[in-house]
Amino acid sequence: MADEPATGDKRRTLPSVDRLLAHPALRAAIAANGRELAVNAARAALDDARARIQAGQASPTLISLAADVAQRLEELTAGTLYPVINATGVIIHTNLGRAPLSAAARSAMDAVAGGYSNLEYDLEAGERGSRYLHAERLLCQLTGAEAALAVNNNAGAVFLALTALAQGRPVVISRGQLVEIGGGFRIPDVMRQSGARLIEVGTTNRTHRRDFEAAINEETALLLRVHSSNFKQIGFVSEVSLAEMVELAHARGIPVLDDLGSGSLLDTSRFGLAPEPMVQASVAAGADLVTFSGDKLLGGPQAGLIVGRAELVGRLRHHPLARALRVDKSTLAALQATLLHYLRREAEREVPIWRMIATPLQALEARAAAWAGRLQEQGIPATVVAASSTVGGGSLPGETLPTRALALAHQNLDGLAKALRQGRPAVVGRIADGLLLLDPRTVLPETDATLIQALIAAWQHMAK
Ligand SMILES: *Cc1c(COP(=O)(O)O)cnc(C)c1O
Repeated sequence: MADEPATGDKRRTLPSVDRLLAHPALRAAIAANGRELAVNAARAALDDARARIQAGQASPTLISLAADVAQRLEELTAGTLYPVINATGVIIHTNLGRAPLSAAARSAMDAVAGGYSNLEYDLEAGERGSRYLHAERLLCQLTGAEAALAVNNNAGAVFLALTALAQGRPVVISRGQLVEIGGGFRIPDVMRQSGARLIEVGTTNRTHRRDFEAAINEETALLLRVHSSNFKQIGFVSEVSLAEMVELAHARGIPVLDDLGSGSLLDTSRFGLAPEPMVQASVAAGADLVTFSGDKLLGGPQAGLIVGRAELVGRLRHHPLARALRVDKSTLAALQATLLHYLRREAEREVPIWRMIATPLQALEARAAAWAGRLQEQGIPATVVAASSTVGGGSLPGETLPTRALALAHQNLDGLAKALRQGRPAVVGRIADGLLLLDPRTVLPETDATLIQALIAAWQHMAK
């Protein structure tokens, strides 16, 4: 407090912007970010100090003002989007960015991101081509569909299909499928926005073939099936199967749109999970269009994938809304690389979400034990407990995979969890039964060392 005045107007003791920025503690920050940003940060720090002095507080020291400037610069330039270590055990965690991409998908993105590409250019003909060709052949080969289209996300895919095929016309859907997906995405709202007329049939728990038969007329544009991806109905329930809907619709020349939500190209029951609807099965059952997400169980980039009959996909592709929902070059690059993993039958090994689903319990136990060992060496009382991972992403509700988690007990668990969230990289775990749990299933093995460092730092922070 050497520069704090004994008497008089304390504001006068605040340094000028130039004097503040000459402080050696700011040299590196100014070199990295330029003087203009530093001047703005210094002005803001000084304004703040002036206001505090006016409120009766003591004048800050030069070093604390410099620290304030550095902090402001750091906050501004760090951005708002950071990597997070997902130790929640929720594999497709929508809030944490859903699917991590495979190494091949990341390098494919990188290969097109920094330069030009043949995104919409036919290199053979030397003229304009179509961006929609890039993922189409792979999607068709994997699903058995005639044609395919990738748009920005699956909500967009459903919206595009309804708008292009059913604007102003009735679309028939079972009451049991008028679902809310999350983030306010509700099927009835999307239908209304698209201009389709919603014709609900059946009841919440039971819808029969005769309900559809009674509702279909010559105006009907589509029958819509929506997978109730994020909830389960049990008890006195029945739905009309896709095959039956197809039979009913096709007899009258009406197409069926099947929104699978997640959709899967691999059979989830092979991993001890309930079966999630497979895209190939919907195509084989005769659905005219099938929509699913790129970043749920496909494990790729954010996208909405539409596969089905060439004539209908063509109408979607040429609708003006398709332009508003189009995907960019890096998405297409990542999508192709992801789809290729399935064609090569290496998805379980190469696509991170499948690798996580397929990780054997012993491997998880070994990792959790290794983490605990590292922490115990530092005097942190970590243990390993049995816990459950989930698939997440609004798929397979109620389904769990057995796991082994690192467990930390602390008198201030919320404080410890917060300290972990505030580190960089941030770590997000889960509190259950009075313990902070960190599930190795969703932690990418290459971040293990970083995770241990973050845990030690947060533990020590709490001891202060
Ligand atoms: C998740 C989901 C959507 C939305 O997909 P996004 O890719 O998140 O836009 C639509 N329908 C169903 C059934 C879903 O589960």
